[in-house]
Amino acid sequence: MPFPQERPRRMRRNEALRSLVRETTLAPDDLVWPLFVVPGAKVRNPVRSMPGVFQLSVDELVAEAQQGLEAGVRSVILFGVPEHKDDVGSGAYDDDGIIPRAVRALKAKVPGLVVMTDVCMCEYTDHGHCGVLKPPRVGGPGQDLQVDNDLTLPLLAREAVAHARAGADVVAPSDMMDGRVAAIRRALDENGFGEVPILSYAAKFAGAFYGPFRDAAESAPQFGDRRGYQMDPANGDEALREIALDIAEGADIVMVKPALAYLDLIHRAKSRFGFPVAAYNVSGEYAMVKAAAARGWIDERLVVDELLTSIRRAGADMILTYFAMDVARRLAGH
Ligand SMILES: [Zn+2]
Repeated sequence: MPFPQERPRRMRRNEALRSLVRETTLAPDDLVWPLFVVPGAKVRNPVRSMPGVFQLSVDELVAEAQQGLEAGVRSVILFGVPEHKDDVGSGAYDDDGIIPRAVRALKAKVPGLVVMTDVCMCEYTDHGHCGVLKPPRVGGPGQDLQVDNDLTLPLLAREAVAHARAGADVVAPSDMMDGRVAAIRRALDENGFGEVPILSYAAKFAGAFYGPFRDAAESAPQFGDRRGYQMDPANGDEALREIALDIAEGADIVMVKPALAYLDLIHRAKSRFGFPVAAYNVSGEYAMVKAAAARGWIDERLVVDELLTSIRRAGADMILTYFAMDVARRLAGH
């Protein structure tokens, strides 16, 4: 029925009417708050390229997560910066490493909080790559250095088990090795953690939006880049294949990362698989908003609400975002 009978503006006349037909909602329940944990006590190091984000020692992390929970943020995901790094990332699977210590403290002191842990090697390796390197070929060229997929899998599995043993509610592999979801699922099951779900970074793209994160997690690769394992930003069909593989291997939630430049894939993933989908509103997306807002060029609150709503509208069930605390406080009317 065309105009003049059909008038979509009728339902836009005031906020009460608009809210009746609003299709997408944003609630603190939908948000997962990424937090960075460092050794020491009373440490709160501001991250230069991410205003409002800090590296926190375990005591400060507990206080921060407690405040988040009070504001309605029920889930956090932890990234660890260890005491020392080496070529096999041994800090990643140490039962007394930075993440297991942080998880134990959160589970003891912030009951009700969902604690997710990032499972990867890049924060723990001295070369900053997401796995162990292939032994150099004798006489081969230097640029041949590559991450060895199959040698990395057992280390990721050990890391996930160490996190689960400390009490992690969800483990989240972000390395993009082939077969890691199956390796982690098997190791969790064999060690009595059959109830711990896997949130897989299923379609993670190599790109320029992670720069600020690497300041926060101190995980920049010391040579080369991550294009040998993370995805080419040009490939959508391949992203769906990656997601299908991870679901087949036992993932419980699949993630698209970054979010804003990949809304099409969030949508395709949700419509194709009907599976829980997470999206990571990454550090570069956060930094762009913060930088423009600091100059008074945009209204931060309105832009953040619009961006996060767009990620939900595309099909994400949950959003990992550094804005989680701000948004939750605002939605709660604080
Ligand atoms: Zn990594």
